[in-house]
Amino acid sequence: MPLIGVLALQGAFREHLAALRRVGVRAMEIRRKTHIDGIDALMLPGGESTAIGKLLTEEDMFSPLLERLRGGMPVYGTCAGLILLCKTIEHSGQPRFGILDATVRRNAFGRQTDSFETRLSIPEIGKGAFPAVFIRAPAITETGPGVRVLAEIDGRAVAVRQGNALATAFHPELTKDIRLHRYFADMCRAAATPGADRANA
Ligand code: GLN
Repeated sequence: MPLIGVLALQGAFREHLAALRRVGVRAMEIRRKTHIDGIDALMLPGGESTAIGKLLTEEDMFSPLLERLRGGMPVYGTCAGLILLCKTIEHSGQPRFGILDATVRRNAFGRQTDSFETRLSIPEIGKGAFPAVFIRAPAITETGPGVRVLAEIDGRAVAVRQGNALATAFHPELTKDIRLHRYFADMCRAAATPGADRANA
């Protein structure tokens, strides 16, 4: 069974660990470089993308993680984690992994709507609407040809997938709905099984 590492430098990582454990996959906190070797997949939590980027560099974890991600290690980024995955961040030169061929706008929903919850249609994970919690959330404003939009609000993508990379602008770990964590766990299992059906990728 694949081991999912949850980056635990800053932000909402504990809730992700709890959700992954409820799904029934193995998960551990990633706090330093030596933790990276044993993991099969990565979860990048929400928080503050500039702070997480700075800590990743300080802890000398940025390059080894980027190498694994470029090698196709499954990854799920939520909110700040989504920002760290995108190739282009509007008006920002902050560090990012850039493996997701997309442009992201930070704090895209404005100050008036700093935080909100909405019921989102994500057909990929099933029929029922997903209770999506947005906190100073980003939105994806442009996507490259390899990126599939899984959900959007007013024409802006808030859930996307490109190969083994999954990203959502909202915080699924703050609700009881574990369908996105289960979906990611399935991606990790498929990546760990040679010859597994990659039709979804
Ligand atoms: N606004 C934050 C950023 O730009 C992301 C907020 C979040 O992760 N909830 O990094």
